[in-house]
Amino acid sequence: MNEKGNLFIVSAPSGTGKTTVVRALLKKMRGVTRSISVTTRPPRKGEKKKNDYCFISETSFKNKVRKGEFLEWAKNFGHYYGTPKKTVYATLKMSKDVILTIDVKGAAQVKRKKPDSVTIFIVPPSPRALVRRLKKRSTDGSKEIKERLKIAKKEMSFARKYDYLIVNDKIKEAVEKLKAVITAKRCKVDKNRNR
Ligand code: ADP
Ligand code: 5GP
Repeated sequence: MNEKGNLFIVSAPSGTGKTTVVRALLKKMRGVTRSISVTTRPPRKGEKKKNDYCFISETSFKNKVRKGEFLEWAKNFGHYYGTPKKTVYATLKMSKDVILTIDVKGAAQVKRKKPDSVTIFIVPPSPRALVRRLKKRSTDGSKEIKERLKIAKKEMSFARKYDYLIVNDKIKEAVEKLKAVITAKRCKVDKNRNR
């Protein structure tokens, strides 16, 4: 497959602000788009179909898994999440960069399949800030928040496996850093080309 765009994988514990940072970046940078994941999780208040996620049933999701329609998929907090392969490859082929905002399990699957993808891990400035943000989002009950914090601890231990680490303290600064990573990749010389 002749892909010309770059693939970026952004992971962060739920509530860190990766969606906020990536959305702000997309407003500032041309030639880059975000992959819309497919999920069996019910939509949160304010989430829009095909803008945030493509919401489907568990049966449809499992059918897609069987048909090999996902670049990667994983189960989080009792729901399935997956990246549609066809859309991602079609976008890369058009020389557009693609950002996947996915969890650490999915990131590992993609990095194995596409070693030239760039992985970025976003962390909150402190555990307390993460709790504040999860509460601020007010989409999860206290039981869900506890579960997300437990998983967050586990996910943080994967941070060192990523190519870049960004602390999301001030949104503006985190966006600038993500922008710098994308720019650097675009300027990188591909030593394997024409070999
Ligand atoms: P994620 O996609 O990582 O689960 P969200 O982007 O939904 O996280 O952000 C979770 C909450 O934190 C939202 O209410 C968002 O407005 C807030 N938030 C994101 N980044 C920051 C930041 N740098 N400072 C303060 N609040 C933030
Ligand atoms: P949320 O329900 O908070 O939107 O997402 C829960 C977790 O699922 C987050 O860690 C998020 O990054 C992850 N996630 C979202 N979409 C995908 C996807 O397509 N694949 C994988 N593996 N994880 C995803």
